[in-house]
Amino acid sequence: MQNNIGANVILQEYFGYDAFKPGQEAIIGEILKGRDVLGIMPTGAGKSLCFQVPALVLGGTAVVISPLISLMKDQVDTLCEMGVEAAFLNSSLDQTEFRSITAKARSGAYKLLYIAPERLELESFQGLLAAIDVALVAVDEAHCISQWGHDFRPSYRKISAMIGALPSRPPIAAFTATATPQVREDIIRLLKLQHPYTLVTGFDRENLSFTVDEPVDKFKALSGFIRNNGSGSGIIYCATRKAVESVCAKLNQLEISCTRYHAGLSDSERRANQEAFINDRITIITATNAFGMGIDKSNIRFVLHYNMPKTMENYYQEAGRAGRDGERAQCILLYSPSDIMTNKFFIEQGSDDTARANDYKKLQDIIDYCNTGSCLRQFILNYFGEEHASPSCDNCSNCLNTVNHTDITLEAQNILSCIILMGERFGSGLVIDVLRGSRTARIKELNFEELPTYSLMPQYSKASIKEMISFMIAQGLIDVKGDKYPVLFSTRAAHTWLKSDEKLWIKRLIRQEPPKTAKARKRGAAGGGTTPGSGADWDDNVLFERLRQLRTEIASEQKVPPYIIFSDATLHDMCHKLPTSVATLLDVSGVGQFKLTKYGHRFLQIIKKHAGS
Ligand code: ADP
Ligand code: MG
Repeated sequence: MQNNIGANVILQEYFGYDAFKPGQEAIIGEILKGRDVLGIMPTGAGKSLCFQVPALVLGGTAVVISPLISLMKDQVDTLCEMGVEAAFLNSSLDQTEFRSITAKARSGAYKLLYIAPERLELESFQGLLAAIDVALVAVDEAHCISQWGHDFRPSYRKISAMIGALPSRPPIAAFTATATPQVREDIIRLLKLQHPYTLVTGFDRENLSFTVDEPVDKFKALSGFIRNNGSGSGIIYCATRKAVESVCAKLNQLEISCTRYHAGLSDSERRANQEAFINDRITIITATNAFGMGIDKSNIRFVLHYNMPKTMENYYQEAGRAGRDGERAQCILLYSPSDIMTNKFFIEQGSDDTARANDYKKLQDIIDYCNTGSCLRQFILNYFGEEHASPSCDNCSNCLNTVNHTDITLEAQNILSCIILMGERFGSGLVIDVLRGSRTARIKELNFEELPTYSLMPQYSKASIKEMISFMIAQGLIDVKGDKYPVLFSTRAAHTWLKSDEKLWIKRLIRQEPPKTAKARKRGAAGGGTTPGSGADWDDNVLFERLRQLRTEIASEQKVPPYIIFSDATLHDMCHKLPTSVATLLDVSGVGQFKLTKYGHRFLQIIKKHAGS
């Protein structure tokens, strides 16, 4: 029935988009020619559309292999909301549902059928496949096939046998966001892709802003950020369960609505908390890195790391969960030297020497990220082997803030001498007290008033000396060790540095408001902001909030997450275009025929009322 309808028409009628994103059109074109494809594109690039559009253009059913129930459900809900016949087969179905979907699949009713790879191991399933006209096999998250990838799934190895058993071989389309050359090679070889059209788009995520901050009080910085950030959804990642619990409890005390997620909670609580977050009932979730895999929520406006992650790979993956909808979103890393300690502790738990050496190297890379004075985006892209077109991105804390460099050579020498003279047996608290010339009982008891470094830095506050020590730890001049409490040591590098005449500069960030460029405005206000700005912004925000409320209402009627009804990008486009008729509402990006008929009048009503108010 859908045969011969062009990809462009499908894009507009069903998805409501008027243009393809980079790479989509080429991939879709190749699939429609019958060629295998491999698409390596970052999160949010729109990989699903690359196989969903061909599925609608081609006759028969597209079989989609996806690793997680939540991802399948998300995509099937999205498709059904657009009026596309789609379903999934996985372990979440009961017998009756399973039978009914199988029967419908046999009759060829579905344009897309999603399955978990484990299904391929069942003989009964082979029978079903043989009965279906399989027009395309799409493999989502294709890196799962490789044991070099981070989410190896042995069942992915069954895919090529499944394809081999089909009466005729359809085109195979594989997609992933993360593929090193090794993983890419594995995907092609193990899926037996034939001369695939391979498309690798850049890894840059233009709509994400990056910030690294080293606040004296992390929690204050966090709560301040949330208060200023409006009503957008966000994830706060913490390194440990304990930190998750404490941050979540402290936010709740401030009456900031927030839930939590970590491996120590019961399955049912984890599920409930995750759902509350996905359905926008609770805007903020505090979590360990156990949270996120399989979360396709598109309207996450910020990902804040309360602790430094272990590697740049982890960081970019976790931070990358923000702004999947292409709207402006923020990635913030709050860093402190005690994070280095925690990570070193984790590394020391490992037994394999080679792995440990590698982990230390990766740890140093992320410490460097936290301390670089140059463009953060550039740093990330370089790390992943790419170049950014210009040396500054105007959308990271280093490009947006004026960086003041201060010479702290003398101070650093004093701090190191003090640590050494105190016998390298104490933590930063006592070192700072000695340097500031405090008269505590402990200092008297240890006779530290006699040290030549006693009271060498009385003009500095505790916080400033602490900041310098943090900086020196990051520079590798001071090491922190200790089982019970952290003890400061001078490193070999420190001794070399002390003998040299090299200067030490610290960078201090002077915070400025990000400029409101035309481009940034187009991307929408961060956080779907409720903070009043200029008159027009304020007006936009009021309307946005009203539309958001309607979206939540419809979502709960339809029992799907709000972003599946309309994305934040679509609501922002409504605020921008202010459509007052069915025809103009259809011009809004993300409004397709089916949703227009289903919900159009309700959105129009609000927009008209707002325009008249
Ligand atoms: P990926 O799988 O690559 O991470 P998704 O397929 O989940 O990305 O798509 C991310 C978001 O981009 C979704 O909200 C999707 O609707 C949107 N999107 C995809 N293609 C387009 C397009 N051509 N125009 C506008 N938005 C698009
Ligand atoms: Mg995807």
